[in-house]
Amino acid sequence: MFKGTKLYSVFNNKCPVCHKGDFFEVNSAYDLKKFDVMHTKCPSCGERYEKEPGYFTGSMYISYAFMVAFMVTCFVGFVGIFDFDIYYVLIGVIIGMILFVPVFFRLARLIWINLFVDYNKSIAEKSK
Ligand SMILES: [Zn+2]
Repeated sequence: MFKGTKLYSVFNNKCPVCHKGDFFEVNSAYDLKKFDVMHTKCPSCGERYEKEPGYFTGSMYISYAFMVAFMVTCFVGFVGIFDFDIYYVLIGVIIGMILFVPVFFRLARLIWINLFVDYNKSIAEKSK
């Protein structure tokens, strides 16, 4: 499902060009030793992922947006709607943010590269 769309690449850890090769070396965000290790090139089509030094610096803005959205959602939900004590919610939010770092990091990089690189059906058919 969603094959050929950017969502497929983002949520399945796939190359943005061919949707076949993996983007990160491991598929789990919670393999804490290797969750941030990317392939330099797509193992399937050979697309180079890091276009220039510091290419993924911009993905920090996306990661920051995820963190802010998570924090605001938790505070509005638990303090605003369910009226929990704000100090307990703050502790929970900090723990939650630490736990979500690997997920947001990976999603941010995949979204960032998908902003600039499009799916190419002819390359996808040629690649193994
Ligand atoms: Zn590829």
